[in-house]
Amino acid sequence: MEKIIVQSHFHTGHRQLGYPGKCKWVHGHTWRGTVTVWCEMFPRDELDMALDFGDLKAVMRFLDHKMLVTEQDATFLDPELFEPDGVVLLNGRGPSVENVALHVWEQVVAHIRGKFPGHGITYSVEVLIQETDNNIFIVEKTVTI
Ligand SMILES: [Zn+2]
Repeated sequence: MEKIIVQSHFHTGHRQLGYPGKCKWVHGHTWRGTVTVWCEMFPRDELDMALDFGDLKAVMRFLDHKMLVTEQDATFLDPELFEPDGVVLLNGRGPSVENVALHVWEQVVAHIRGKFPGHGITYSVEVLIQETDNNIFIVEKTVTI
């Protein structure tokens, strides 16, 4: 078994529209993320590297200094009001820690698909996202690529 672990952090804004509390207002977090990918044996590139640590960190760093929204938040998706480059559209009904983790998971899988397509390898991908000192969400799923 081989395992790759990368950690990163990113600062974002978001708001939980419809939430019955202060989270419905725009606020920010410094999120901490850990991406762990494991499989029996990674494919290697021409330098005998499996997945590049920097590429996996870049998935999380892409979110840095962005506003995280879902399609319900039409205000931030209006290019007349906010620069689209500063907004990241997540799937789901709100920019919750759950949906941030799922977004990172999907982007990591897309990266693996792009780098090592069609090897028939089953990868386990775990994304741990820490929203605050006390609040953590983890998604772990397997995918065969
Ligand atoms: Zn929040």
